[in-house]
Amino acid sequence: MNACIFCRIIEGDAPGEIVYRDDLVTAFRDIHPVAPVHVLIVPNQHFTSLNDVKSEDEALAGRMILVARKLAEREGIHKSGYRLIVNTGSHGGQVIPHLHLHLIGGQRMRHPMG
Ligand code: 5GP
Ligand code: ZN
Repeated sequence: MNACIFCRIIEGDAPGEIVYRDDLVTAFRDIHPVAPVHVLIVPNQHFTSLNDVKSEDEALAGRMILVARKLAEREGIHKSGYRLIVNTGSHGGQVIPHLHLHLIGGQRMRHPMG
């Protein structure tokens, strides 16, 4: 069995509330939401972090951002605003070693960045 929890969610081998899927990315709700809307947009292929993304993955990188925008609209937070975050590595606060884009919204962000 795949050791990566996000790969297992994408493959349907672990539970996850999937809200979107296409040929490049899958999106599911974060298990510990920090705001009323907290969705993770992840590549279907395993990338450990943003550091693994190469120039040939430009379509994937663009897709992740555009899907976040689409889901913000679907979740009804596109007008009030939202935040996109890609934690990378230890200093970035990355806990799950499968690249993911956090889409967070539904409330005013309380914490300043950094
Ligand atoms: P990171 O700190 O790596 O950027 O964020 C990882 C995120 O994944 C956290 O917000 C955490 O709540 C979420 N997470 C961890 N394990 C699971 C899980 O098994 N299922 C889901 N849906 N989210 C998870
Ligand atoms: Zn993975």
